[in-house]
Amino acid sequence: MSEVEERFAKIKEELMQRVKSTGRNLEDIKIIAVSKGQTIADIEKLTDKKSISAFGESRVQEIRDKNEQLADLSWHMIGHLQRNKVKYLTRMDNCSLIHSLDSYRLAKRIDKRAKMEDRDMSVLAQVNIAKDENKYGIMPEKTIDFVKQVTEFDNLSVKGLMTILPHVEDSEELRPYFAKMKELFEQIKAMDITGVEMKELSMGMSNDYKVAIEEGATMLRLGRAIFGSRAYN
Ligand SMILES: *Cc1c(COP(=O)(O)O)cnc(C)c1O
Repeated sequence: MSEVEERFAKIKEELMQRVKSTGRNLEDIKIIAVSKGQTIADIEKLTDKKSISAFGESRVQEIRDKNEQLADLSWHMIGHLQRNKVKYLTRMDNCSLIHSLDSYRLAKRIDKRAKMEDRDMSVLAQVNIAKDENKYGIMPEKTIDFVKQVTEFDNLSVKGLMTILPHVEDSEELRPYFAKMKELFEQIKAMDITGVEMKELSMGMSNDYKVAIEEGATMLRLGRAIFGSRAYN
């Protein structure tokens, strides 16, 4: 087994144990392998792993380059998205989810471009739950209105929420934020808004995924825990 495969096997084992001890089901938690800054050779070692739901990238150019070099994978955009780059993603049939919807203007552009491709684009609303000045995302108190507002777009479908939390030494410090995300998620779900499906809660990265599992994440975005260190951060 290659180093990447070994690391992946190890993280899967840890993850399964945590899911079990939390009393959750493994089917309810999707692994997004964050391949930014990783080589094609390393990514190829994991493309046959059934437990990986999709590969995640935070730059449009990098998704496009890798998509050309790799067999048909499912890709997720997880980083901040500029409106002028939306067209490259809507043109990729295998770009199945954008985690980083953070403004009305971006929603409008995604809808427009998806319409031109005669497709539907699934998105998650990115919430700045920690109100971090250095992070993108909708403010938590504005999220419900935002989600309602973007239902006006026919070719864009909200499938859940996403958040990126600051890096801290002790991931326990992040537990209240994960809990607040889950609360907001359940609140919106209970509202049963037409056109909104609260299915996915994308939170938890290499440093804090264990806490995220306990607090109700359905999608984990794991980069370094799977691939090891990367070319950039
Ligand atoms: C890079 C990145 C990740 C993965 O981070 P790791 O610490 O390597 O697990 C997850 N989500 C987003 C939005 C990222 O940009």
